[in-house]
Amino acid sequence: MADQALVKTFEDMLGKENVFSSEADRQTYSYDSAVLTPVVPALVVRPTSVERLGQCVQKLYDNGIPMTVRGAGTNLSGGTIPDNSDTVVVLTTALTRILEINVNDLYAVVEPGVITATLAAEVARKNLFYPPDPGSQSVSTIAGNIAENAGGLRGLKYGCTKDYVMGIEFFDATGALVKSGSRTVKCVTGYNLAGLMVQSEGTLGIISQAVLKLVPPPKASKALMAVFANVQDAAEAVAGIIAAHVVPCTLEFLDNNTIVRVDDFTKAGLPRDAGAILLIEVDGHPAQVAEEAEVVEKVIKANNATDVKVPKDAAEKLKLWEARRMALPVLARCRPTTVLEDATVPRSQIPAMMKAVNDIAAKYRLEVGTFGHAGDGNLHPTFLCDKRDADEFHRVEEAIDEMFDTALKLQGTLSGEHGIGTAKAKWMEKETSRGTILFSQRLRRALDPRGLLNPTKLVGI
Ligand SMILES: Cc1cc2nc3c(=O)[nH]c(=O)nc-3n(C[C@H](O)[C@H](O)[C@H](O)COP(=O)(O)OP(=O)(O)OC[C@H]3O[C@@H](n4cnc5c(N)ncnc54)[C@H](O)[C@@H]3O)c2cc1C
Repeated sequence: MADQALVKTFEDMLGKENVFSSEADRQTYSYDSAVLTPVVPALVVRPTSVERLGQCVQKLYDNGIPMTVRGAGTNLSGGTIPDNSDTVVVLTTALTRILEINVNDLYAVVEPGVITATLAAEVARKNLFYPPDPGSQSVSTIAGNIAENAGGLRGLKYGCTKDYVMGIEFFDATGALVKSGSRTVKCVTGYNLAGLMVQSEGTLGIISQAVLKLVPPPKASKALMAVFANVQDAAEAVAGIIAAHVVPCTLEFLDNNTIVRVDDFTKAGLPRDAGAILLIEVDGHPAQVAEEAEVVEKVIKANNATDVKVPKDAAEKLKLWEARRMALPVLARCRPTTVLEDATVPRSQIPAMMKAVNDIAAKYRLEVGTFGHAGDGNLHPTFLCDKRDADEFHRVEEAIDEMFDTALKLQGTLSGEHGIGTAKAKWMEKETSRGTILFSQRLRRALDPRGLLNPTKLVGI
């Protein structure tokens, strides 16, 4: 609990209604969406303007108090769990203004706490398109997306959040305002500090504003669901589609366990006896869409698809896509603990990775549901377990170690989109090098000499 003088300082600065010091309030911000031990912060503050955000950072720096900035808290790597009981959590949830949507120059300017889906909907109203669409888009914030470089169901063709960041304004550890990038398509004024902020997980600065690229929406699209008797055929079909040089905007995978669990909950009419399904969408010019859809159908049939279903209208498509977005929340209801992983491999290695995940789950006698952005090589094997069962949880940890080893052997990576936080910090050196860890720590110490910005996250400081 913060001392009363500090509470009073923040109450005077932000108003009592934006300072949360009770035990219950602080507990609310002690955890996020990762399966990690909660840490109750000393205080939670909610600045209601960007100027106040900067003043909060400065006040915390002057007092040597560690700070964790938090958007919606949906990250899956522990990035918003306070570092220790002295930490002050700084919320961006009151900074939700869309400052500009420029339909001629194709950009939007937003405050950090704007919800991803709100921006996408506002932009769509002006007949433009903001493609990044993480499964959490109805609650996740733009700054959280930038700080994690969030991907989504459209990542394969349209890329991730980093591909839409034109400029960022942020407060450094001392509260000084830093600006990088601009509203122009090109800008090489100074270091690419905006790029540095992408996937920085709240460790290098506090994002206060972003300029985001918008694109014209596709003129046409075609969605389909391909049904397979087994996971391997679906995995081979994914590799086959990419090898045929078609880049769908969506190429998502669900295994049987996920299909059944999701269908139980959503009643979406998924094929419950399928070994796996792929949700595929191609978009672009109508002629290109027709041609690419034909190639996709050929590839999936050549890989033993047992059925191909084309949604009859937009509502039916939405139902299927929503069912996919429900995969994680639905699996999370099944057992007390859900450990969702993010191992990512080159697309051609998807069949090998899929096989490894199932072999590993069988070896350690664990229940796994796997879904994910198969077209990106980004799988989310989700272990359903109970952390209170020490033996079972130990087996989960061993399984995850083996899964990461396999991903790295296949030239993959620890995390395609969920970040390192504290959840994956111990594996970072294995994928990179000792030099990488030391370089990153030197960078952090230079930018944050008092070690106050999310100090235990990523490589530590
Ligand atoms: C059901 C579900 C589905 C998901 N689906 C996807 C998916 O498809 N793709 C994907 O990539 N992720 C997904 N995620 C993970 C998560 O939603 C993303 O990482 C998202 O970007 C986090 O946004 P947030 O606003 O919740 O950020 P938070 O969790 O609040 O914060 C995330 C990180 O960003 C930092 N941060 C927040 N605001 C700022 C700021 N203003 N300045 C600097 N740093 C800041 C925090 O300190 C923290 O380290 C999913 C999560 C859930 C629970």
